[in-house]
Amino acid sequence: MSALETIEQADGLAFQRGAGVAKARTAVERSGIRIADNRRRGRGAGINQSGRFETVSRHVFDDGWQTLEELPPFKTQVTVEEPKTVIARNQSPDVPFDRSINPYRGCEHGCVYCFARPTHSFMGLSAGLDFESKLFAKPDAARLLRKELAARDYECKSMAMGTNTDPYQPIERTWRVTREILEVLEDCDHPVGIVTKSALVTRDIDILSRMAKKGLARVALSITSLDRRLSRSMEPRAPTPSLRLDAIRQLSEAGIPVSVMVAPLIPAINDHELERILDAAKANGAQDAGFVLLRLPHEVSGLFKEWLMRHYPDRYTHVLSLIRSMRGGKDYDAQWGTRMRGVGPYAWQMSRRFDIATRKLGLAPMRMALRSDLFKSPNVPGTQLSLF
Ligand code: SF4
Repeated sequence: MSALETIEQADGLAFQRGAGVAKARTAVERSGIRIADNRRRGRGAGINQSGRFETVSRHVFDDGWQTLEELPPFKTQVTVEEPKTVIARNQSPDVPFDRSINPYRGCEHGCVYCFARPTHSFMGLSAGLDFESKLFAKPDAARLLRKELAARDYECKSMAMGTNTDPYQPIERTWRVTREILEVLEDCDHPVGIVTKSALVTRDIDILSRMAKKGLARVALSITSLDRRLSRSMEPRAPTPSLRLDAIRQLSEAGIPVSVMVAPLIPAINDHELERILDAAKANGAQDAGFVLLRLPHEVSGLFKEWLMRHYPDRYTHVLSLIRSMRGGKDYDAQWGTRMRGVGPYAWQMSRRFDIATRKLGLAPMRMALRSDLFKSPNVPGTQLSLF
């Protein structure tokens, strides 16, 4: 049985009369699917189930000869990826951008709820611990971007960054791919909207403030909780909530329009903090706000359940029941239009609370669109005829 099947079975036990969460937890612990704490220190996921496209599911088990003690901890590794193009296009009717750049695959921040986790399966890797530790960087991204922007038929519209993986995750400190991309965008007066959980974005205030002066840049800080302990357990390597609030303040003081994204809101885990987060963000200079309900596509559902069973066993059935009440009885419904905010009375209540709080605080609905009329095509060496 695969790790995710084991979790599904435990989920069934948790809701079964006469069984309950205690039995469900025991079932998961005895199955051996959970990676030992000393191997996954500072990581979000508790398991490392093989990718969903793999024909064989592999997981470690103790054969009685203490072989598990020899297994090393999950260390962060970075592999260079050499794509042919770097701008990703989408036609989703419920996202406010049609193009984006992801300088990295995988994300060391390790948020257990991250809806980008299942993309690691396309690399033959796990959406669990592999997603947080086996990362891919695209060091050639700036050159590729320049080339794509120079195409004769390129039509300029806001570029989104941070919509899949975080462009300011810890490896950006050394790889600096995000900064190089921003340098290209600034050169061409190309608009950019960034979403991040990292205070590292303040390193690029020089570029972003120059772009913002021309109406070409906005930044959204994602804040899920003001409770440091909760934040550490569900997004272990992301900067603390207070650092993120301070980043909002610094960006705002530099004249860069800043939004706060409360994403994701998880019923009975962090949803009670909604108004406090908005309030704190506004006090630090946020101008507009958005929220997204927890999304559990593919492997994320099992990863989140394992986390919930480990950290909040007493709330397990309550949280899952609320989630299902907002997803038509399922863990997740990918329907366009409702996937971001859910359906039903509890989802309605969340949206209503958000509307009331933002109106009271004077926070506008989050925007992504920026001006694109200043765009000038970049010069790419070797692609233009020289006059002399
Ligand atoms: S910071 Fe964003 S991309 Fe990174 S793990 Fe968290 S949710 Fe995913």
